Amino acid sequence: MDLSSKSADKSLKARATRVAAIAAVYADDVDKAGRFPLEAIEALKAEKLLGIQIPQDCGGEGRSTSEIAELCTIIAQACAASAMIFAMHQIKVSSLVSHGTDAEWHRSFMRKVCDEQMLLGSATTEGGIGGNLRNSICAIEVEGDRCRLEKDATVISYGKHADAILITSRAHKDAPPSDQVMTVFLKDQYTLEQTHVWDTMGMRGTCSDGFLFKGEAPAVQILPKPFAEIAAQSMLASSHLLWSALWYGIAVDAFTKAQTFIRAAARKAPGTQPPGLVQLAEMSSQLQVIRSNIQSGLASHEQALKDPDRLSSMGFAVAMNNVKIASSEMILPVIHQALRICGIMGYKNGTPFSLGRHLRDAHSAELMISNDRILGNTSTMLLVHKQETGLLG
Ligand SMILES: Cc1cc2nc3c(=O)[nH]c(=O)nc-3n(C[C@H](O)[C@H](O)[C@H](O)COP(=O)(O)OP(=O)(O)OC[C@H]3O[C@@H](n4cnc5c(N)ncnc54)[C@H](O)[C@@H]3O)c2cc1C
Repeated sequence: MDLSSKSADKSLKARATRVAAIAAVYADDVDKAGRFPLEAIEALKAEKLLGIQIPQDCGGEGRSTSEIAELCTIIAQACAASAMIFAMHQIKVSSLVSHGTDAEWHRSFMRKVCDEQMLLGSATTEGGIGGNLRNSICAIEVEGDRCRLEKDATVISYGKHADAILITSRAHKDAPPSDQVMTVFLKDQYTLEQTHVWDTMGMRGTCSDGFLFKGEAPAVQILPKPFAEIAAQSMLASSHLLWSALWYGIAVDAFTKAQTFIRAAARKAPGTQPPGLVQLAEMSSQLQVIRSNIQSGLASHEQALKDPDRLSSMGFAVAMNNVKIASSEMILPVIHQALRICGIMGYKNGTPFSLGRHLRDAHSAELMISNDRILGNTSTMLLVHKQETGLLG
């Protein structure tokens, strides 16, 4: 496939579709070997998709979360691990775009991300803290114009392949656990000593090994806003929306396989109703609910971006949490139903209807920031927040 061809369709959808075609070829091997999906990531770079969210005056295309979510859905239908890597990169970019455009260093870094198609990784999870993103044990040390950080980062997806890592820590050694900052460290500014191996049930291609991270960099690389603001105003929404979009893509592909399977059965026995047809209709309805949930989350996010109070409000946080909970839980019954329809052809690996990878990848959704933890946060907010009940907002 010639990605550089002048006549190639340059729309976002066409670019992502070409990436998906490449990702699909290697998805099973990536999953089986638990290896980094190099071919798909190279294709993302060749299509210049890594800088699209960055504003035009920093060298990007200024694309919205909704547009990026659509690309996550497209790529996930081919390879969920590749889509997750793309989503996680874009979540990091969203923090730079929301909170780094006033800082000279971060503006020039965004330009570099576009020019060099750099892949950004994330290190929020920490030994002893787990998925509680809003707390850190480690603390950044600032001395003069330099900063230093050591972190027991138990999960860093594609850590070995990232060109830079955005990492959370306490703001200084005397800061409480929730007084955090996020810092950009470039690849040549840190070392990673592997502490955990990512040999998992699913999402194997994300290569989310654990590392002891040790970095030293100019202190200007610390994002100029408290991480509390970054988490509330960019990470929360972009994580839940982009993850949901790619999880939805896994369910869409499972549905497509089931539909293809049933259509083939219908062709073999004209005039009869193939088994599973009614269940397919049920899946279609479930998929529509998942899709509507994400679409409404994306619309709500676009509205909130115009209103800083709404963006930091409990109502918005509850809405985003609910998008994540619902999509992560609802994809599983859809994929399971697809497996029942495709039967042994879905259960076996290496058939056009294989669904093992889909099911295994989809199981990560409820754990990726544990739904129990998210429900715990939402329930605390519901002690004071009034549930939104009207249909017109
Ligand atoms: C595919 C994938 C990629 C990832 N990539 C990255 C990455 O690049 N960088 C990164 O930093 N992290 C990454 N993570 C980690 C992720 O963000 C979470 O930190 C991690 O999934 C949490 O792991 P845990 O199960 O130990 O959860 P913990 O939050 O430690 O929870 C452990 C258990 O305690 C329970 N629990 C915790 N809190 C509560 C509560 N308040 N109420 C009730 N029950 C609770 C939960 O049921 C959970 O099973 C990734 C995870 C996955 C699945």
